[in-house]
Amino acid sequence: MHPDTNPLHPQTANPQTSNPQTANPQAGTAAGPPSPEGEPPAQLRRILRLFRPYRGRLALVALLVGASSLTTVASPFMLREVLDTAIPQARTGLLSLLALGMIAAAVMSSVFGVLQTLISTTVGQRVMHDLRTAVYARLQRMSLAFFTRTRTGEVQSRIANDIGSMQATVTSTATSLVSNLTSVVATVVAMLALDWRLTVVSLALLPLFVWISRRVGRERKRITAQRQKQLAAMAAMVTESLSVSGILLGRTMGRADSLTRDFAEESERLVGLEVRSSMAGRWRMAVIGIVMAAMPAVIYWAAGMAQHFGGPMVSLGTLVAFVSLQQGLFRPTVSLLSTGVQMQTSLALFQRIFEYLDLPVDIAEPADPVRLPTVRGDVRFEAVHFRYGAEGADTLRAIELTVPAGSSLAVVGPTGSGKSTLGHLVPRLYDVTAGRVTLDGADVRDLDFDTLARAVGVVSQETYLFHASVADNLRFAKPDATDAEIESAARAAQIHDHIAGLPDGYDTLVGERGHRFSGGEKQRLAIARTILRDPPVLILDEATSALDTRTEHAVQQAIDALSAGRTTITIAHRLSTVRDADRIMVLDAGRIAEQGTHEELLAQDGRYAALLRRDADTRFAPTGQPWEPAAT
Ligand code: ADP
Repeated sequence: MHPDTNPLHPQTANPQTSNPQTANPQAGTAAGPPSPEGEPPAQLRRILRLFRPYRGRLALVALLVGASSLTTVASPFMLREVLDTAIPQARTGLLSLLALGMIAAAVMSSVFGVLQTLISTTVGQRVMHDLRTAVYARLQRMSLAFFTRTRTGEVQSRIANDIGSMQATVTSTATSLVSNLTSVVATVVAMLALDWRLTVVSLALLPLFVWISRRVGRERKRITAQRQKQLAAMAAMVTESLSVSGILLGRTMGRADSLTRDFAEESERLVGLEVRSSMAGRWRMAVIGIVMAAMPAVIYWAAGMAQHFGGPMVSLGTLVAFVSLQQGLFRPTVSLLSTGVQMQTSLALFQRIFEYLDLPVDIAEPADPVRLPTVRGDVRFEAVHFRYGAEGADTLRAIELTVPAGSSLAVVGPTGSGKSTLGHLVPRLYDVTAGRVTLDGADVRDLDFDTLARAVGVVSQETYLFHASVADNLRFAKPDATDAEIESAARAAQIHDHIAGLPDGYDTLVGERGHRFSGGEKQRLAIARTILRDPPVLILDEATSALDTRTEHAVQQAIDALSAGRTTITIAHRLSTVRDADRIMVLDAGRIAEQGTHEELLAQDGRYAALLRRDADTRFAPTGQPWEPAAT
């Protein structure tokens, strides 16, 4: 599909002009960006475009709807013949034929109705599927920055609650709109054919009904928007507080009860909104119902009075047929009016979904990316500045750095000096604010994502394990890896023996409800994953938490196996890493304080030398405490 005609992605963000700082800091909150297509008519067009791929099937639905309405409307005409001709003239043959015809009409109308529901539900579900997938795909393209500033539950709520609620309305609404509209039109035409004067009487109140239901629709749309916001807030709260870390925090801080109270408050707010949402305009709609139900009496009365005062004569057959048509009009008219109300509700939901689809992708793949078939692994930072928010101080300042292919760099410095941030810039988890980061001479922002992902491996302190087997978790790094490859990577990462010792070996389930690995084991799993990917450049965030000597030895061996022959940038916490690195960089408050080899820096007798003296121990920060800058 051409991007311009794709309603799911009406705009493609320009990677060169957007950056995580300026790009919509509000994104992801319920008060998202006003989209250029936010105006109702444009929005409606955009919704219609979602249905475009299913034109053929929708045409079939329209055909079935038309056929079903025709058969329904045919009945009263046969009824008139029964009452005016067949019964009074005792024409039994005609009577049987008409009776059969009326039965056949009822059967056909039902069969058409079922077929139409089947096709339209399928179309509706397909459209929902397209939307769900599009939202998921768009979120997959969002940067890390987006997820750090968006509450987790908020994202889930948009996919589950918003698209979920829309499902009900869209699948039924679109088709009930078409079928009811057709029924109404067909019935009105039939009524006009029977008697136009009675038609005028029975339709006189219609404009009032339309006006009432439009007002109700607007009211409900407003309430729905509020309700979905509230649902998202609650979902966010649940995900936050009922996660493992959330429970841990709540328990240990003795806040469980107060969290429950907060939740009850939020939930209470929802009660009011839900009641208001389903009661909005119920009374007004009930008035419409009463008037419609009273209509037959009015028709009989009007016809009888007209005849009594010398007006036009209406045959009994016509009158009964007319009333039966008119009663048939009641249901579709009311549904049509409430469909209008539902449409407004769906519109509010569509708006929330479109907001997500319109989120600017702050770290996007360039339109015409550079592909590097092989990457040697030269990494350079050229006058790099970086800052997280639009305001505030730079987290990294004037970073000039060269890490030649195959060499290693250890980054040391106090906590908060920007070491991890520096590591994030190479795999483009964030984009630089000024300057550039290059890989083999090419700006990383010009590379295609595939090259970048193949070239740069990241082992961070946060190792994420899916709820799947150990083997599957490792295979995530390389889907086509053989069992032998997986085992050899695990061996190199010094974790094979541990895995083999588990009850189910490589088939052991891990993740949220599975086997729990310790920090050191998780890190070795992460290393095994990266060995499988075999990237030429490696960003390594060493664990700060104290590992016991044996584990540390195993992790160190794993890291050695991993980093051999690769460009390695290590955020170092161990003396051995630092001493053996080809180059060492001391970072302080976002600036490079010193740079050189171990010997050079010792000879300089500056920060690094002071750090070494301070931690004459085998390790710099045995308890994960910050490295303080050298005592002044
Ligand atoms: P280090 O790895 O040296 O401990 P970091 O790179 O993690 O330091 O952090 C450097 C600075 O940037 C810190 O002051 C930290 O608070 C800030 N920072 C880190 N991540 C973010 C973020 N996502 N948004 C805003 N500020 C951040």
